Amino acid sequence: MKVYLENLGCPKNQVDAEYVLAAVVGGGAEVVATPAEADALIVNTCAFIEPARAESIETILELAALKKRDAKLFVIGCLAQRFAEELRASLREAELVLESRDPWQLGQQLRQALGLPGGCAIVREDRHLLSPRHFAYLKLAEGCDNRCAYCTIPLIKGSYVSRPLQQILSEAERLAARGVRELILVAQDTTYYGWDRGERGALASLVEGLAKIAGIEWIRILYAHPAHVDVDMICRLMQIPQVCRYLDLPIQHASDRILRSMGRRTDQRQLRELVETLRSRVDGIALRTTVLVGFPGETPEDFDQLVEFLTWARFERVGVFGYWREPGTRAARMRGHVPPEVIAERVDTISDLANTLAQEWYESQVGRRLKVLVDAHAEEGGSFLGRTEWDAPEIDGVVRLEGAAEAGRFVQCEIREAAPFELRGVITGTGVGRGGLAVSVSPSASVAVRHGR
Ligand code: SF4
Repeated sequence: MKVYLENLGCPKNQVDAEYVLAAVVGGGAEVVATPAEADALIVNTCAFIEPARAESIETILELAALKKRDAKLFVIGCLAQRFAEELRASLREAELVLESRDPWQLGQQLRQALGLPGGCAIVREDRHLLSPRHFAYLKLAEGCDNRCAYCTIPLIKGSYVSRPLQQILSEAERLAARGVRELILVAQDTTYYGWDRGERGALASLVEGLAKIAGIEWIRILYAHPAHVDVDMICRLMQIPQVCRYLDLPIQHASDRILRSMGRRTDQRQLRELVETLRSRVDGIALRTTVLVGFPGETPEDFDQLVEFLTWARFERVGVFGYWREPGTRAARMRGHVPPEVIAERVDTISDLANTLAQEWYESQVGRRLKVLVDAHAEEGGSFLGRTEWDAPEIDGVVRLEGAAEAGRFVQCEIREAAPFELRGVITGTGVGRGGLAVSVSPSASVAVRHGR
């Protein structure tokens, strides 16, 4: 049995796909790289906003056209969860639409649907990684207890349910044993981990436990909702050498009026204090944020406040989304919807600012010696591509490395040049120690070393 999976959406969806593939592989299936050779095709859909739903439907139809005549097509993921009935009624192309919220259960259902044997070999923490084998996302929870006015996720995924700490640790141990060196913590809201069970210190216990796992050198926290950040805890965790001095802090806005209307449970004063504390207590931290512009009622003054705040906070990485009116959300029923052309202009303004802030950070790295995780061979213009502790895969920048290395290994490199979202450097040694040493570059130092761990 040959299985092909097309994954759409965010890293959390990718983790679900990895559980599902582990279940079918554990039942004896083989994962293949092209749809035409598969006996079963799975589309792991995204339904976050309308364009994501359209892309999911297009992918289903494309795969239906490409598949062998007798191959089966399955639809899983957020679109299947939210619109199972509608999909069953309208998509003749899809054999089965599976809608469980538990990805492991989903894997078991699929295995049965494909007639694959079960058995004790398949354990709950198994993953068939879709990322390179040296990094993996680690999902802390399902669902979300926030009810941000614009968001459909709670409608799709339900309330927040933290995974048991021991289950996450044993999954991380299995990943480390298979060569994973970087764990990237994800959930709709990672800083809420444990709160649904009344355990507010659970994130610290988890990260401390992960840092003790042999082989894990980087632990990165994404999706830290500012309202749930325990700043003392985060600053303490960032003193652990394995924890990247990088925090993804999606603020969404900085105007108090808009933050209130969005239901974000923070205000600009709290955000300001949070950024100040993180910057003053974690030396060299890089902050990432995401903002949403064009929310109903957003005036030019609200937007200006956002621009001013981003400029003041100097977020090293900024992602921007334009508001999208989603049926079923509170925001969809609000007054004062902003015209699409104004939203597009505001997206452009923030993108330009984001580029400027990022470029300043990249330029400030020239002359430093940094620890870099080598991701892959570069196809052109240098021998390898890697990342610093301040770069998450796919969403942040890369380091283009000259010298000999091996994907999945850490190296030290001297940064010679900065380009948009890219540093360029020369490998000078193996990647021991923490992320960066502030040294000036010696022009003669360009020794290529093979990392021999
Ligand atoms: S925190 Fe808000 S935006 Fe994020 S998933 Fe939960 S409801 Fe949606």
